Amino acid sequence: MSLTSLVKRLIPRTLGYRIRKLKLFVRGCIYRGNTYSCPICEHDYRQFFDGGFDTEGNSKYQIIGSGRRKNIICPGCASTDRERLILLCLKNKDLKLWPAESILHVAPEPALSSRLKKWQKENGGHYLAGAKYHEGFYYGNDLQLIDLLKLKFDDNQFDLLICNHVLEHIEDDLKAMGELHRVLRPGGKAILQVPWSPILETTYEDASIVDPKEREKHFGQFDHVRVYGKDYTDRLKKAGFTVEVIEISILSLDKTHYIRYGLNPLEKVFVASK
Ligand SMILES: [Zn+2]
Repeated sequence: MSLTSLVKRLIPRTLGYRIRKLKLFVRGCIYRGNTYSCPICEHDYRQFFDGGFDTEGNSKYQIIGSGRRKNIICPGCASTDRERLILLCLKNKDLKLWPAESILHVAPEPALSSRLKKWQKENGGHYLAGAKYHEGFYYGNDLQLIDLLKLKFDDNQFDLLICNHVLEHIEDDLKAMGELHRVLRPGGKAILQVPWSPILETTYEDASIVDPKEREKHFGQFDHVRVYGKDYTDRLKKAGFTVEVIEISILSLDKTHYIRYGLNPLEKVFVASK
């Protein structure tokens, strides 16, 4: 892409980003209250919004981490349950995920990304965010364009990887897992969240299903290429990782906290180590 066309693409996206920030600020002020708390923007609200979509695939496989969820979107920063769960894990000292010297955040969610960038800056660490280019998305000028099947980073470069709901979009997920393993330093950790089915023993995938409507029906979302089953951790192990599945209860939250932070108590956190 030429520099001119790149600039042309960036200008309206930057403007869109600023408008979005202003909109969130105003919405955050309107919805201030005492019922919900967002650990990402650190404000309290009277309401979180519903989010996600119900699809045939989601209901059929009872997919965790996907589908229509109640009270999950923060009005002030637009973070979702999945982002807040990761932040709470990073803040939990027993899990020893953070502080980390260098972080790679794949396909960064805007709210979580801003928060991590600030944290790393305050602590003198490095934060790198990378994503494949998608029309209409803007994550900030420092976003790097990356391909998860061929990462442009050195071996053993990062202490912490965050890849939240990405692998289910990638056909050759084993190759992507291998790349994540390669760039993680020995002793480093990777949070590799995916939507998954607790009723499927084995991951369901069929490369011949490419129609978005069919993918919705079979895999739960128009751009997902599989539904991970209980063997998701085996796939990570195949790529060389040691895997720990963390129950959300480790965060020492009770039922009121799940509701207050807008979390899904059925979620588990997949932490892969090298
Ligand atoms: Zn928030």
